Amino acid sequence: MTVKARQRAASGRAPEDAEWAAHRAGAPTGLVWAVATTGIHCRDGCPARPLRQNTRVFETRAEAEAAGFRACRRCGGGGVDAAP
Ligand SMILES: [Zn+2]
Repeated sequence: MTVKARQRAASGRAPEDAEWAAHRAGAPTGLVWAVATTGIHCRDGCPARPLRQNTRVFETRAEAEAAGFRACRRCGGGGVDAAP
């Protein structure tokens, strides 16, 4: 893991069991799903399937981006201001 990935991994928080299960099931959680190893953040329903140990959650897109994550190209990234 790179230095930047380590810094990203220390940001946000780990998903709770119920949140992770909902996200994997494609259910809306309203959270921003960020992956420390890739540096991207995703919305609910993104087809990307990162390992839970690399996943950090944020309440808002702004928090995720302040921590060094950028929006996913596949889903447009998480957060309420993201395009549908
Ligand atoms: Zn995505």
